[in-house]
Amino acid sequence: MNNEDVVDPLSLLEADTSLEAARPILELAANYLTGTRSGEGPVSTWHSAEVIADRLNEPMPRRSRPLADVARRLSTMLLDDVNRLAHPMYIGHQVSAPLPAAVWTDALISALNQSMAVREMSPSFTPLEHQVVEWMTDLIGWDSRAGGTMTSGGTEATLTALLAARSRAVPNVWSHGLGDHAPVLVCGEHAHYAVSRAAGEMGLGVRRVVTIPGVDHCMSIPMLREKLSSLRASGTRVMAVVATAGCTATGSFDDLNGVADACDAFADDHGPLWMHVDAAHGGAAMLSPTHAHRVAGIARARSVAWDPHKTLLLPLAAGLLLMREEHDLEAAFAQKAPYLFNHNDDARAWDIGPRSFQCSRRADVLKLWVAFQRYGADALSSLYDKLCRTAQALHGLLEAHPQFAPLHEPMSNILCFAWNPPGVELGDRDALTNALRERYNRSGRGWITATTLDGRRVLRVTVMNARTDVPHVEALVAGLEAEAAYVLKHHR
Ligand SMILES: *Cc1c(COP(=O)(O)O)cnc(C)c1O
Repeated sequence: MNNEDVVDPLSLLEADTSLEAARPILELAANYLTGTRSGEGPVSTWHSAEVIADRLNEPMPRRSRPLADVARRLSTMLLDDVNRLAHPMYIGHQVSAPLPAAVWTDALISALNQSMAVREMSPSFTPLEHQVVEWMTDLIGWDSRAGGTMTSGGTEATLTALLAARSRAVPNVWSHGLGDHAPVLVCGEHAHYAVSRAAGEMGLGVRRVVTIPGVDHCMSIPMLREKLSSLRASGTRVMAVVATAGCTATGSFDDLNGVADACDAFADDHGPLWMHVDAAHGGAAMLSPTHAHRVAGIARARSVAWDPHKTLLLPLAAGLLLMREEHDLEAAFAQKAPYLFNHNDDARAWDIGPRSFQCSRRADVLKLWVAFQRYGADALSSLYDKLCRTAQALHGLLEAHPQFAPLHEPMSNILCFAWNPPGVELGDRDALTNALRERYNRSGRGWITATTLDGRRVLRVTVMNARTDVPHVEALVAGLEAEAAYVLKHHR
């Protein structure tokens, strides 16, 4: 036993501060990023959670080890079984193959550990967050009344926006609760579960979420108007209408001008209905001359959720909540905490804590700022275009395919498609589709997702990796064909 470890723990910390000491960990990250470039090697693992859990099952370490040893253990115990999102054949969930400059910045954010709760804890990063938020609200087309906060993601951003909308609809809700006349919340049937979850969380109840059917996976505007009209006739107040810009399942965009027109037409005594746009996935379209038309009308929203950790390819976590009027956010949290928040005579209330869900909060804004500094908005916009083009290329391949059929035109980087195996009854198709995905993913040759669309199991890809290109979606189709043949043979 090395007694010095116990006697002087600080020396352990000091030993880890140099670049030399950090190298074994940093090398794991760099070797991963460069080593996946060629597209060789497995994309994921075939090991079950139990096998991996067994390998990890050991008592809490009581003694120290050199950091280099820890890096070796980390590598052998864990890294073989990760999902390699940077591998060009990972075309799975909506999680990015992250921008390298932002990856390296994560270490700096942790080293500095500035908390975004109040300005005095983050003297340079609080103004930075206001600046980056301003870039984004300018992009939307809002004026200087706008503001916002970074969030852990779209779920938190949407909850926060809806808390603000709730305060507007029920002004003393913070002290008195919702009372007897709780309003309803309206969204498309393809809205992310963050919306109904928020309804549950804020005491509205998921039964007060009114969903509007979709046409081609976008909210039907005539049906929205019909519903708003019948709600008005029954004297039911509408707290907010949530539109989605980049639906999770299909990447489709609601008609934001259509939703905004309806919100204007059904104004109540508080003014036009509160329109929240969940652009967690599709917000990056705003940067792209090719795709900006998808979000036409977004400036008419009162609040917008946008996740840079989705199609801006930031590493987790980087979410944004943007408000057309910053003061709406104050109403979301009517919290008093004199030991922390002290607004006294500050001309601008710099502190973001009073306006956000979290108290202690990472300065994730720094990696977003670094991403813009390093790549520029133009490259980020081209990357988004490329993700979408790759999805379009897969769509083209599948249109001509005898067994696989695309289920929609991709409006972004997401595509759902069906497997129509020959000679298989409809009732068996869902199970076979699940089996095909499972086999393909376990083969290591690629990784995709599945979802339920219009009542049937379908395959789904989201292109979240700039390395994924036409040859890779060709390889995906070839890989699925090979595994499909196996699944079919064993089905009969
Ligand atoms: C991903 C997503 C969310 C949830 O965002 P998180 O960052 O995972 O919390 C919400 N809405 C849409 C449309 C999404 O795609």
